[in-house]
Amino acid sequence: MSAFVPPLACSVRACALPLVHEGARWRCERGHSFDVARSGYLSLLQPHDRRSLEAGDSRETVDARRALLDAGFGAALRVELVALARTLGLPAGATVLDLGCGDGHFLAATCDELALHGLGIDLSPHAVERCARRHPRHAWIAANADRRLPVLDASIDLALSIDGRRPPSEFARVLRPEGSLIVAVPASDDLVELRASVLGEDRGASRVPAVLEELAAHFELRDQRSARERVQLDRTGLEQLALATYRWQRERERQRLAALEGLEVTTSHDLLLLRRRTS
Ligand SMILES: [Zn+2]
Repeated sequence: MSAFVPPLACSVRACALPLVHEGARWRCERGHSFDVARSGYLSLLQPHDRRSLEAGDSRETVDARRALLDAGFGAALRVELVALARTLGLPAGATVLDLGCGDGHFLAATCDELALHGLGIDLSPHAVERCARRHPRHAWIAANADRRLPVLDASIDLALSIDGRRPPSEFARVLRPEGSLIVAVPASDDLVELRASVLGEDRGASRVPAVLEELAAHFELRDQRSARERVQLDRTGLEQLALATYRWQRERERQRLAALEGLEVTTSHDLLLLRRRTS
């Protein structure tokens, strides 16, 4: 791992003591220890998490997401995310947590442009292995975030949830008192062309009111933006999109998707900047 020492907590159930770095191993005072993988990521997965590892993204899904990013999918989201984070004026070296970091694209872009430290957590070891190889300056953790995040209290300056989960009380616990949260969710016109041609559906409803309500006990809205772009995808790109988003898996939908030669697709997100409530 890099010189940055991420604020990690032991993931053994009911332990949660700070983890201390000793060479290629992290250890808590109770003697629970975790080895850094050769590629540089740290697995805090517990045996019962490994049984459900299929829940994490497969290598094929991780590859499909990467191919879409390389094709320009997500460029507008990246630009708006960095712009929104920049408005916080965080000092160099502040710590940014990305929960459900995938292959680390958005966290690394934010931290590299703003000289911040990144701590990415994902359930998929395939994803964090990719992160560690591609972005060795930041810290990458395989962990199950269903219960307690393996992160120390009040240690994070900015938390990100990009199309990911967003446990309100856990985000509030790990953020510093003045900490911020950026949430990105698919907007009502996300993939609208594909929804029309594959599912015969109209645009969806905005998820923003529900997200704000879910977070209201711990966070207040400070700023809101949208990130939208249209990307031309060929047949391979459309297949990658289906794989990357777990959509259109029913036989009839797959046939309709396979019949498309290519399509210009709208990708659209609502971004919310929230501040942790102090009282
Ligand atoms: Zn422990």
